[in-house]
Amino acid sequence: MAKDGMDTKQFRKRIERFLSHYRVDRGKGFRLRDHDPTDTHGLEDEQKDEARELLQRGVAELSRLQEMLYAQDRWAVLLIFQAMDAAGKDGTIKHVMSGVNPQGVQVFSFKQPSSEELDHDFLWRAQKRAPERGRIGIFNRSYYEETLVVRVHPELLARQHLPPPLISKKIWAERFEDIAAYERYLSRNGILVRKFFLNVSHEEQRRRFLARIDDPDKNWKFSMADAREREHWNEYMRAYQETIRGTASKEAPWFVVPADHKWFTRLVVAAAVIDALYGLDLAFPKVDAAKRRELLATRRVLESRGRAGRKKGGRRS
Ligand code: ATP
Ligand code: MG
Repeated sequence: MAKDGMDTKQFRKRIERFLSHYRVDRGKGFRLRDHDPTDTHGLEDEQKDEARELLQRGVAELSRLQEMLYAQDRWAVLLIFQAMDAAGKDGTIKHVMSGVNPQGVQVFSFKQPSSEELDHDFLWRAQKRAPERGRIGIFNRSYYEETLVVRVHPELLARQHLPPPLISKKIWAERFEDIAAYERYLSRNGILVRKFFLNVSHEEQRRRFLARIDDPDKNWKFSMADAREREHWNEYMRAYQETIRGTASKEAPWFVVPADHKWFTRLVVAAAVIDALYGLDLAFPKVDAAKRRELLATRRVLESRGRAGRKKGGRRS
């Protein structure tokens, strides 16, 4: 994703055009069936190596942008990953963020809520993990589980200690509204939100589960519960579609990322993160004239001390 003779403006335009196929920033009319999990944007499997090279360059660009984000210490970025099991969340996070300074990234995986977490409102545990300014926060699963797994398994909702009058048919629409409002709140506080649904097909998930069973090094990744969830596939897909419809917005768009080809998934996610950072017009903080004079004076002192040190033949530091 280097510029290859293109100027930054052209490069940005190209990324934007590419991403327009996957970005959903208006939920109305969104249909999951318009999104093909096997899509590779016309890139053939043989171009995988090229795509890998592109990803590597993207990772380098990301590292450069992240340094500025950190130095500026104003904005934060929150990347949310949601998917069915074996869609490649972990691998995507690992590859896309591989060049980024670990000090600038905060990753958090949301598991089944603890009893303390269940005793609070559902955004409580997420808000505690929202990224600091200058940082990229990654949610591996998130409060979106509240309109996905909790919707598919009503017994999970029953465990949330909600007052009965608040549990009605409207609860999902209300949660969408509350999540959208929360994300608007984050964006108004300088925390940029980008959401990724890694869209893997039912068949590809089956193949990946089989690989997890056949390869002893992957056995640990497989759980019977994951296989049982496959029986609820259609309910999950409906829940995803409704969730995306209810929570896609300009300030916090969803990306529906084709996930049957891992190399392509990573490319789309890297492009989306780079695009988000470009939008912030990041730059290293400039110092004022007085500070600059101070720096130059210090420089002169350091230089003269160095020369003096050498004259005496000492090893001063
Ligand atoms: P891996 O891909 O490594 O399996 P994972 O994200 O699936 O990672 P697990 O520990 O296997 O991690 O699963 C976490 C489980 O917690 C998921 O099944 C998820 O649906 C569930 N979970 C997360 N948030 C909630 C929530 N708010 N309410 C109920 N269940 C939740
Ligand atoms: Mg799991």
